[in-house]
Amino acid sequence: MTKARYEAISAATSWRDHAAGQQQAYKVEEIFGADVFSEKAMRERLPKNVFQRLMRTIKKGERLDAQLADVVASAMKDWAVERGATHYTHWFQPLTGLTAEKHDSFITPDGSGSVMSQFSGGALTQGEPDASSFPSGGLRATFEARGYTAWDPTSPVFLNRSGPNTTLCIPTAFVSWTGEALDNKTPLLRSIEALSTQAMRILRIFKTDQGVARINTTLGPEQEYFLVDRNLYFARPDLLHCDRTLFGAKPPKGQQLEDHYFGSIPARVLSFMAESERELCLLGVPVKTRHNEVAPAQFEIAPIFENANVACDHQMLIMETLKRVAPRYGLQCILHEKPFAGINGSGKHNNWSMSTDTGINLLDPREDTHTNMQFLVFLTAVIRGVDLHADLLRASIASASNDHRLGANEAPPAIISIFLGDMLTDIVEQIESGMRRRTKTGGQLDLGATTLPNLPRDAGDRNRTSPFAFTGNKFEFRAVGSSQTSAWPMTVLNTIVAESLDFVASQLEKSLGKNPSEAKVQKVVSDLLKKLVKQHKRVIFNGDGYSQAWHEEAEKRGLPHMRDSVDALPVFLKKKAGDLFSRYKVLSRVETEARGHIFLEKYVKQVSIEGETMVSIARTQIVPAAMAHQRRMAEAIAATQGAGVDVADQRAQLEEYVARVGRLVSATEALDRALSHHGDGATPLDHAKHVRDEVKPAMADLREVADELEEIVADELWPLPTYRDLLFIK
Ligand code: ADP
Ligand code: MG
Repeated sequence: MTKARYEAISAATSWRDHAAGQQQAYKVEEIFGADVFSEKAMRERLPKNVFQRLMRTIKKGERLDAQLADVVASAMKDWAVERGATHYTHWFQPLTGLTAEKHDSFITPDGSGSVMSQFSGGALTQGEPDASSFPSGGLRATFEARGYTAWDPTSPVFLNRSGPNTTLCIPTAFVSWTGEALDNKTPLLRSIEALSTQAMRILRIFKTDQGVARINTTLGPEQEYFLVDRNLYFARPDLLHCDRTLFGAKPPKGQQLEDHYFGSIPARVLSFMAESERELCLLGVPVKTRHNEVAPAQFEIAPIFENANVACDHQMLIMETLKRVAPRYGLQCILHEKPFAGINGSGKHNNWSMSTDTGINLLDPREDTHTNMQFLVFLTAVIRGVDLHADLLRASIASASNDHRLGANEAPPAIISIFLGDMLTDIVEQIESGMRRRTKTGGQLDLGATTLPNLPRDAGDRNRTSPFAFTGNKFEFRAVGSSQTSAWPMTVLNTIVAESLDFVASQLEKSLGKNPSEAKVQKVVSDLLKKLVKQHKRVIFNGDGYSQAWHEEAEKRGLPHMRDSVDALPVFLKKKAGDLFSRYKVLSRVETEARGHIFLEKYVKQVSIEGETMVSIARTQIVPAAMAHQRRMAEAIAATQGAGVDVADQRAQLEEYVARVGRLVSATEALDRALSHHGDGATPLDHAKHVRDEVKPAMADLREVADELEEIVADELWPLPTYRDLLFIK
């Protein structure tokens, strides 16, 4: 180990004791939501009629007129300024996958040479960031390079605190002047609307719609992440630039001992978690769970579920908070899906369901026959949607970083299938074979004299190898990547389920006619479910998703297997996707295609940056270290020979070593050559193919030989902190 590394680690470890002393005790119920302009704050600060109108805007989507917006903005500003805010920002989610903000101060000239603090309704409801520097996937050609941000009153306004600076953050949608969505929030909101409209039709059929105004999509995302010592992080250009290691031999101790998962949380990490949670608490993010994950240095944080729009905003805040707080403890939070080769990667399990605005979860099997049958309709509609649009669901989670994880025998396979559990699968089979009755057994519901099968009260079993699992009263989309926004996969899921519910509702409405009898409803629903199960049950799979046998079986069943992003992303360029999204007014055909291009371009950029970083590290750090070691070996051998001792064996070893260093140099140059081409075609897809087929294999070759050398070259000469340091210094 070099002196510099020794010092870096010493500096880092001194943080540990320091961190423990920094904690402030707090009561969750006292601070929860303190930095949010909450319903309570609004009620206290707004005239009653304004408050009521605003609530109608928030809950029913009514328009807020300009005068009212002025009153709301002014109250919001006073609230923020009292808490130290000097600036406000429209907070939005461009297609970079991150959030964006541009701060403006509250000051306005008062006409007499001084300034006063002011915030108008116009400034609250609309902003104008320059759209030309954000990805648009060619959309810009169709409109001016201008876009605007529009206040989303359904997601709470909050304060962003950073040192002494406090900023009022207004969640907004980001669209072009011609109305094209340039962000992740706009289509999400539209997809929630689409799903609500179609789901309400099902409720009407079952006459369960009384008092229900809309259906909410609910989301509870579980976030996995890594923590590494920040001093070591800075000594790794690959982590710094790419958020993952591009080199690194496997340490002797990885995760074989299975001693990390749910293990006791290291003190420094716990301090970091507690402080992150405190900040999230202030922001009204209901964080609930924290634990060690499977890989060494891997952890998880999970909030309680909320409506999907707010949950997605909160998810962005969770990622940002983890990143922001970690350095205070000498740590770096890594959200990449696969920061370390050979050990588990990170996902973001998106727990998803649909519920009425009166709080009834539509994916919760319930006791009485009516809602029970309704549950089966929703369940079957999801199965149908996932089967018909597995390609879209797969593409919604495709990225250069998630490619390292999916299908890697530690994360869900790239083949989309549904895990239902034994009991529910049994029920689906009963539906298919004609709904025979079952007698009541432990844990199951007897539905009485109906043609419906029994429903389990609890899914019980779990499956960690499925990309999309039913877990008792919700689905868990487990293939989502840890660094990605939940908004996009949720948008796709909502849309495919909306389409499926539309189909089911249309079929039922047609067969049922007006005022059908109860018996007729049961018969018609049973017949349709039977048909749908027959058609779509191929997507149900309860076995081991990691096994080779499943890959073969899935192929037999005709399920799409898109191995990587370059296979998956072109799905958004196809007519099928454009038709679906435009039909439900989630995205136009042009917007859908633009997204396909943006994601492919991002893939190309991400891999190219990685490739270039590898070349630079190899040339400026690894080759020189390998050469220095070579010289040492050569000098030692020459000196030994000069002393008259036989060195034949060592000379042979030196020859082998020199050949290896030669391979290192030629692999570096080969990667550099691959990077300097762009492939033959000109489209983002052509570039992506070149990157996958030429650049990535060259990266793998270079890594292989560099990792071999890491295990030979003297530790004090090796320029990068090793996996051993990165993963085990806590
Ligand atoms: P576990 O998966 O360990 O059994 P839970 O059942 O409590 O834990 O849920 C895990 C995640 O699923 C949590 O983030 C939780 O908020 C979320 N969740 C629970 N119910 C729903 C729901 N109806 N819709 C969306 N997410 C949900
Ligand atoms: Mg879970």
